Amino acid sequence: MLQYQTIPVTPFAQNCSIVWCDETRKAAIIDPGGDLDTLQKTVGKLGITLEQIWLTHAHIDHAGGTAELAERLNLPIVGPHTGDQFWIDRLADQSRMFNFPLSRPFTPTRWLNDGDTVSIGNSTLNVRHCPGHTPGHVVFHSPEAKRAFVGDVLFAGSIGRTDFPGGDFDTLIDSIKQRLWPMGNDTVFIPGHGPESSFGEERKRNPYVRDLQF
Ligand SMILES: [Zn+2]
Ligand SMILES: [Zn+2]
Repeated sequence: MLQYQTIPVTPFAQNCSIVWCDETRKAAIIDPGGDLDTLQKTVGKLGITLEQIWLTHAHIDHAGGTAELAERLNLPIVGPHTGDQFWIDRLADQSRMFNFPLSRPFTPTRWLNDGDTVSIGNSTLNVRHCPGHTPGHVVFHSPEAKRAFVGDVLFAGSIGRTDFPGGDFDTLIDSIKQRLWPMGNDTVFIPGHGPESSFGEERKRNPYVRDLQF
């Protein structure tokens, strides 16, 4: 079964999740935006082996620490979707703009597409392409654990911003309704910022995406 621990990193309190297979104790890290020493300490305490970096999208708070962590531990970089190439190219600019430690671009070992899967140990997660916040945003879904790591697509009570270059409100709403809701009302999602919630809860109460019949 897939296990995970979420650690807020960077001045934006971005939810970096460390996910691992409890049979093999092999782990992946989703969105290592920064605070790499803290993240590596947590990995050490958990007694797991970090083998991959998975990215939802290439905003600085999510991807800023990727190049350095990949280099430190010689890890493959999986994701996001090619639509975020321009955000990867701009990582140094993004870090200067938001007063982050200088970040640099990287080349993903593997780009992700809708319908792909990613695996760590004996756990496999499905990849859904969910553009709207960024063009290349992807989401990682474990049907077995009923968990989805959704980055900045959806938050408890809110949705991702769509006013950045390449963002689009209608596209984001479509991504949420057509690609997240089918994962099931009882699926718990880990957003890029703030507390966890379930898709069922958001369909009832989230003013941006709730169902009209509730
Ligand atoms: Zn973002
Ligand atoms: Zn974010």
